[in-house]
Amino acid sequence: MNILVGDVLTMKKPHPCGSGRWEVLRIGADFKLRCLGCGHEVMGARSKFEKQIKSLVREGETLSPEELKK
Ligand SMILES: [Zn+2]
Repeated sequence: MNILVGDVLTMKKPHPCGSGRWEVLRIGADFKLRCLGCGHEVMGARSKFEKQIKSLVREGETLSPEELKK
């Protein structure tokens, strides 16, 4: 999946703070994400996060996971 630093991901499961949106801070085998609701930062395997993505916003455009595979 084509994900870039600065993209905003909407996850299927919201964070306990109520926000489901995360900014991508670092990419690689592991992703580092920051919750846009509370500022909490998490790191984890790329494959784990990719499965949870509902949509992605890049430069004001909303993309679905299917569109990112193209
Ligand atoms: Zn949060």
